[in-house]
Amino acid sequence: MNWESNVRKVVPYVPGEQPTGRVIKLNTNENPYPPAPGVEALLKGYDVSLLRKYPDPACSSLVNALAGKYNVKPSQVFVGVGSDDVLAMAFLTFFNSDKKILFPDITYSFYDVWADLFKIPYEQIPLDDKFRIIPEDYARENGGVVIANPNAPTGVFMGFDGIRAILDKNRDVVCIVDEAYVDFGAESALSLLEEYDNLLVIQTFSKSRSMAGLRIGYAIGSETMIKYLNDVKYSFNSYTMTSLTLALGVEAVKDDEYFKATCAKIVATREALKIKLKELGFEFQDSKTNFIFAKHASVSAEHIFTELKKRNIYVRYWNKPRISEYLRITVGTDEECDTLVANLREILGMK
Ligand SMILES: *Cc1c(COP(=O)(O)O)cnc(C)c1O
Repeated sequence: MNWESNVRKVVPYVPGEQPTGRVIKLNTNENPYPPAPGVEALLKGYDVSLLRKYPDPACSSLVNALAGKYNVKPSQVFVGVGSDDVLAMAFLTFFNSDKKILFPDITYSFYDVWADLFKIPYEQIPLDDKFRIIPEDYARENGGVVIANPNAPTGVFMGFDGIRAILDKNRDVVCIVDEAYVDFGAESALSLLEEYDNLLVIQTFSKSRSMAGLRIGYAIGSETMIKYLNDVKYSFNSYTMTSLTLALGVEAVKDDEYFKATCAKIVATREALKIKLKELGFEFQDSKTNFIFAKHASVSAEHIFTELKKRNIYVRYWNKPRISEYLRITVGTDEECDTLVANLREILGMK
């Protein structure tokens, strides 16, 4: 009768809603454009008999493609089922001390969930009032550091000086830099890998490569780090990636031109949306991502969120300390953003 006392109880991460039907969906930072044309072509001609066999547990085709793209050795690349899977494996692998790991108070809300799940002690370090990470705050004894850069849901990017300062003060622990949004105009810490063997950079196909539904994420770090990650992966589930996913992922990586063009379109739409949101009375820190984290000068975020939803426009809202006045608005197509702005005008009584 008392089996419940032995259950590993967790408060799960809550993903954004996935409404069906005709809605404008600006709530989970998906890419509004389709994946690279080669992805569709491969899918259409896929030889289903290949599914009879187990996939390559080493995911070599995709690992090699990523190694080529980022100019690192294949032994420096680890791939997983979305960067959520890669991050979870990295937490499990590298955060195994009694000391607290450190990450910001306002950041990707999965970090504390994994820490709880794996019983990793942690401390959340407050961002300053402009949502900036203060590198000096991470200069203390700890069991590891996790930084999303650009940060989510704030959109704020910290330059190399900050990242270097954190890495320099934390030579004896693993520092994870989660770069889910780096392709939208920020700079990747990948260029620091040669200098810092304590750095693990994690990226995803979900946002900039339009493949959230396929689930591909990857980590790049020192060969030693990647070996440890693989040891944990093979102790948990050897066949994380389907053979179809691996093949489609390779197609996406091949088409650098399409990738760059898509990212550029989103950046252009974002910059235009910033101007329109300012005109409507929104305030926000500069975003280098595919979303804008904005607060209205006089109307509550909850009200705007609810009114937008009534009009079938979904954005993300958290009723949490320090961010309950903010909406996280994903950058969609120009057309979607225009519809958003027109509806905001109405809601704000600015007809
Ligand atoms: C979206 C996101 C992820 C997870 O992406 P996957 O779809 O699992 O690859 C990880 N970190 C941050 C900060 C994100 O915004």
